[in-house]
Amino acid sequence: MDYLRRTWAEIDLDALTRNFMEMKKRLKPGCQTMAVVKADAYGHGDGYVSRTLQQAGADWFAVSNINEAVSLRQQDVTRPILILGYTPPEQVKLLGSMSISQTIYSTEYAHALSKAAAACGVHIDCHIKIDTGMSRIGFYAQQQLEAQAAEEIAQVCALPGLDCTGIFTHFAVADSYHGDDPAFTRRQFDCFMQTVALLAERNITFRLRHCCNSAATLAYPEMYLDMVRLGDVLYGLNPSSECAGMAQLKPVMSLYTTVTMVKTLTDGVDISYGRKYTTPHNGLRIASIAIGYADGYRRNFSNKGHVLLHGQPAPIVGTICMDQLMIDVTGIPQTKSGDVVTLLGCDGEQQITLDDFAAINQTINYEECCLIGRRVPRVYLQGGQEIAAIDYVIARL
Ligand SMILES: *Cc1c(COP(=O)(O)O)cnc(C)c1O
Repeated sequence: MDYLRRTWAEIDLDALTRNFMEMKKRLKPGCQTMAVVKADAYGHGDGYVSRTLQQAGADWFAVSNINEAVSLRQQDVTRPILILGYTPPEQVKLLGSMSISQTIYSTEYAHALSKAAAACGVHIDCHIKIDTGMSRIGFYAQQQLEAQAAEEIAQVCALPGLDCTGIFTHFAVADSYHGDDPAFTRRQFDCFMQTVALLAERNITFRLRHCCNSAATLAYPEMYLDMVRLGDVLYGLNPSSECAGMAQLKPVMSLYTTVTMVKTLTDGVDISYGRKYTTPHNGLRIASIAIGYADGYRRNFSNKGHVLLHGQPAPIVGTICMDQLMIDVTGIPQTKSGDVVTLLGCDGEQQITLDDFAAINQTINYEECCLIGRRVPRVYLQGGQEIAAIDYVIARL
């Protein structure tokens, strides 16, 4: 496979399929799956990921905006696509011509989209979003306001140019099982079901009612309804540490770079910007490797993280630079330039996960995989073979 072997991410499409099947097997027959592939499939690359999931049987795809939806259509995704966020009404023609479904989250937005749709004679498939606990976009139904939400939604469903075939909500704490968080999730579900029931009383029904994200799909089978929206788990990630072990998941992404130079230093030598590390003794072997914060390997790892090579951990020393960083390989004497370094994934018995990244950076694995830079080629593995590589910098396919 022809790609720049400087720094690259490997995407294991077999693991992706396995994770999908692992989740799919717990659904009741007839319950559909929506693969959430926003943000370039959580940094894994939207094209190969979506085509693989489409082949595995994903019924729907979800993205955050219309450019992401168009990208899927351009890469042979033929299944329905839902935009979870805002689409400027002037894009309505594109929604129609590409059969892209749009989330409707307020009366104001519904009117704007309806007007635009009517003006160019298109019908847009829409899913209504109810706010049951996130307090972001959605018809506000919290605090016993289900009836008011249902009233607003009923009027929206009658607008020309909009075909409201789906209705959904999003959970705030489906990945937390302590304190009153489970009760909060159940209240969100009840609020959603109550609003849907009030609409049914007016003979307004929806083919697709969906509320479960990955975490809820792991923990709340009674809430599956007509479809579940799977994101994090598809990539082999646990939505939170509390979800760990609830499904057999395998990380999909690994990250590698290359040793570019090895040198032996005397004691008292400063390493990298800011002189934040000084060699403590003679004979320290320091390797420079070809990854930095511009590749999404965060500067916060300075003097903190470690990498793997020759099956052993090597600590990061000094400040992470934009394009390089230094590691202490004193204990790995065979290290030489050209060696492959594992930043994420397995090397022998050792493994580094996105959860390890997240722990150091005090964030969640979601953010870590989204941050892997566009400068890092994505290399796709299937059946143990490299089947393709995508380089965003020079758009080589
Ligand atoms: C991102 C997103 C999801 C997927 O969440 P995961 O925790 O990754 O499963 C589902 N629904 C909505 C509305 C989202 O924005």
